Amino acid sequence: MDNTQAVKQHSDSPRLVVVGSIGIDTIETPKARRQNILGGSASYGCAAASFFTAVGLVGVVGTDFPPAYVDLYKRLGINLEGLQTVEGKTFQWEGVYETNLDNRRTLRTDLNVFASFRPDLPASYRKAPFLFLANISPDLQLHVLDQMEKPQFVVADTMDLWINNTREDLQKVIGRVDLLTMNESEARHLSGKKALLRAARMLLGMGPKYVLIKKGEHGSVLFSKDSIFLMPAYPLEDVRDPTGAGDSFAGGFMGALAANGDTSESAIRKAMVYGSVVASFGVEEFSLERLQVLTVDQVEERASLFRSMMRCE
Ligand code: AMP
Repeated sequence: MDNTQAVKQHSDSPRLVVVGSIGIDTIETPKARRQNILGGSASYGCAAASFFTAVGLVGVVGTDFPPAYVDLYKRLGINLEGLQTVEGKTFQWEGVYETNLDNRRTLRTDLNVFASFRPDLPASYRKAPFLFLANISPDLQLHVLDQMEKPQFVVADTMDLWINNTREDLQKVIGRVDLLTMNESEARHLSGKKALLRAARMLLGMGPKYVLIKKGEHGSVLFSKDSIFLMPAYPLEDVRDPTGAGDSFAGGFMGALAANGDTSESAIRKAMVYGSVVASFGVEEFSLERLQVLTVDQVEERASLFRSMMRCE
């Protein structure tokens, strides 16, 4: 069963709503440079979630957005009622990776149509039990969160730009989510603490029940007030483009949680397996090129191999 067939079984109303960037990216890795490819935190997040649950996208594109990318979202079964097209240019981002692929420099971020995006959520989105506030301005994340009726589980992601420029709004977001996710350097930056455990404690003190710290090829760590859970990354021989790995992780994770409906810590740990697995596929190619041809069976097969790699008793 391929992903397209799988999503046909999803109901129309999204169980998971994702708001985040929809971008046109230009990316340079040590091996290749690709211009004007589909990116954005919401693109990766929704594509990853589409393997597990009915997902609705909240985002905006300009009139320059290629129709082929909208078709791709449709083929993935993503609900596009919350996607707006407005006069102007689509969000653009440009980044360059160093040889080890863990270090990345942002060369350009043009918010364009995102700068003034104030969506009214479709009625069917407001009822969704799961919400992923993917990386975008905290102000927009709050605007979406305010319109949700009674979400069961809310996750937020962020990045340096927002930590530097809109910290107050970001703190409001963090105070209202169940789980905060960010990468290691951002967690240190936001908390002002060098040791990861101290950083996580500080972030937990801001309100969320869980803090999930992404460590790139070294996996991720889930912190709660009284537990720590370590998850490695699925080992790969070749990474073509790590862009969006965190968004795919969070999208796959939220999709798996939403499909199951259980938000206990044990369910969260199990969903992290799916987040890691989908992210590992995503980085095998640029943009959504791997996720768009991935099948649910391949996801399950890698998930079971991954679990066997972690078994130690
Ligand atoms: P990640 O590798 O998880 O940081 O995600 C990279 C994706 O996020 C790219 O496809 C970019 O289009 C998008 N992106 C980069 N910077 C920002 C930003 N400041 N806000 C929202 N999305 C961004």
